Amino acid sequence: MATTVRFAPSPTGRIHIGNARTAILNWLMALKSGGQFVLRYDDTDTVRSTTEFADGIAADLDWLGIKPHRVEWQSKRFGRYDEVAAKLREDGRLYPCFETADELDRRRKRQLARGAPPIYDRAALKLTDEEKRAFEAEGRKPHWRFRLDGRIVVWDDIIRGPQHIDTTGLSDPVLVREDGSYLYTLPSVIDDIDMEITHVIRGEDHVVNTAVQIEITEALGGHVPHYAHHSLLTGADGKGLSKRLGSLSIASMREGGLEPMAVVSHAALLGTSDNIHPCADYAELVAGFDLGKLSRAPARFDEAELLHLNAKLLHHLPWEAVKHRLPQDSEAFWLAIRGNIERLSDASVWHQVITGDVTPAVAEEDREFIAAARSLLPPEPWGTGTWKAWTDAVKAATGRKGKPLFMPLRLALTGLGHGPELAQLLPLIGPERALERLG
Ligand code: GLU
Repeated sequence: MATTVRFAPSPTGRIHIGNARTAILNWLMALKSGGQFVLRYDDTDTVRSTTEFADGIAADLDWLGIKPHRVEWQSKRFGRYDEVAAKLREDGRLYPCFETADELDRRRKRQLARGAPPIYDRAALKLTDEEKRAFEAEGRKPHWRFRLDGRIVVWDDIIRGPQHIDTTGLSDPVLVREDGSYLYTLPSVIDDIDMEITHVIRGEDHVVNTAVQIEITEALGGHVPHYAHHSLLTGADGKGLSKRLGSLSIASMREGGLEPMAVVSHAALLGTSDNIHPCADYAELVAGFDLGKLSRAPARFDEAELLHLNAKLLHHLPWEAVKHRLPQDSEAFWLAIRGNIERLSDASVWHQVITGDVTPAVAEEDREFIAAARSLLPPEPWGTGTWKAWTDAVKAATGRKGKPLFMPLRLALTGLGHGPELAQLLPLIGPERALERLG
């Protein structure tokens, strides 16, 4: 069977680096196997899900270079879920329960007080038809639980290795609420079966769900997919990312001027046995991609490391890749400044230094030296050799060398004590501006 994976966000918010990592791992799996990637919106929660969030997620994925082969919406498949739920009811796997949240809560507390695990006691399974009718006559509507087999569910997780989960230790999960709406558990299984998903790659917060979902898949006579549960990201402080967004959202990384491939490389290589290095495109990542390289330990996400990776990526990017996004249409400009930026938007700082108003910084004791240097500026045309010719002449005339020779020239020409190689900057600054700044 051809590989088919899915990324299944709930469109109740935008995605952050942790969700993006799941999407990227799935996308790499699809690319590596020549398979299909399904973007599935888990929007059974019709109140909290919005099309704005869904559109935002699509835009985030697009920016990350992920191009789904198919897009599915759970909200369009309720008819299908009703059909399957009816079959599970018929088979006695889905049973009606009438307890209120308060009743369940009291029961759980009593269990805990006795030192018993707070598992649903299946009281509803013992209800007679008469009792059920009586509840309904009272106006109570049932919610529906899946009757677990209560066995050891086993699967060979691609990342975590052999897994054994004893479902006797779990409550029968509620699949359908009182109002007839579905929790995520059942629709997800139905979709995975109907969409012929071969590999479910998702966060380890779903490991226990997987045991339940395997039981449901088997109850429906479906083919159980391969599972891979990756560890979750933590922040630099070691705490989980799940509920925080802000600067961790893909939207803010995009707005903050990060390169998508820096974000992708970072997310794809974090927590693997490979060094985190900038990859220029997916092909480079696919070559080394193997889910087996992912560690089970939580991976630490540090924004500062991402920015560092972004800078590293830019330092090697060819002009062709960025020319439409630069403030100056010149390859020489790009080659001069690319080693001195962290974000592409920093290019405008150097554009300003080259072409804009600069306040030369000349110390009192360097005035004479700068005047001498000014008179020695080489004739046009200027090129990459100009800086060397000029500084050789200045050195011969003034006897200065090393830092005392170069730093005052840099400060006068750029107003700054650091920056790109002057050999590359000087021809871009040009004779007219150089004369003015040295004057
Ligand atoms: N909507 C679920 C989530 O975002 C999907 C989990 C899954 O991949 O099955 O956690």
